[in-house]
Amino acid sequence: MKLTRLRIVGFKTFVEPTEVLIEPGLTGVVGPNGCGKSNLVEALRWVMGESSHKNMRATGMDDVIFAGSSSRPARNTAEVTLAIDNADKQAPAAFNDADALEVSRRIERSHGSSYHVNGREVRARDVQLLFADAATGARSPALVRQGQISELIAAKPQARRRILEDAAGIAGLHARRHEAELR
Ligand code: ATP
Ligand code: MG
Repeated sequence: MKLTRLRIVGFKTFVEPTEVLIEPGLTGVVGPNGCGKSNLVEALRWVMGESSHKNMRATGMDDVIFAGSSSRPARNTAEVTLAIDNADKQAPAAFNDADALEVSRRIERSHGSSYHVNGREVRARDVQLLFADAATGARSPALVRQGQISELIAAKPQARRRILEDAAGIAGLHARRHEAELR
């Protein structure tokens, strides 16, 4: 699975529809302090199903919605859409028919989030599992936050094991076993 395009509307500083193409090779994002570089990476993590507002540097999940500025009113919704190339057919069985996947997450003030994959409404869990197998989900070590390296060094052994399991790509198995046990 390859991430190919990120579309952001009303999320944090991205009030106007913004589209970022993710091309093969290395992509750099540069800009002055506070221009939204970290917000861009947070949008990526959010659409992959991040459930903790703290990991979004927010006091509640509604805080990811554009809060307004001196020249623009606040918005009531935010939406992030991630396009994925699934030509290698690595997506979980439920989504693997399609060569291209479009995963979107939308939040409405006071009404929480909803998720869609290729237009079909799905659970947060489905989206999290979609990325967990590719070792690239919202909590994956593929996304390194500012300050995260020092946290890793100071982490307790159990927390560190989770990070290693994520990196090894077996986090999805644990999540599925947990789901099976609940049934
Ligand atoms: P640095 O170079 O310092 O790391 P950065 O480019 O990573 O900066 P971000 O942290 O992505 O910058 O952006 C921070 C800005 O986003 C702040 O100005 C903050 O006010 C703004 N911001 C965060 N949430 C919202 C929101 N809901 N609505 C509007 N602006 C927001
Ligand atoms: Mg930053």
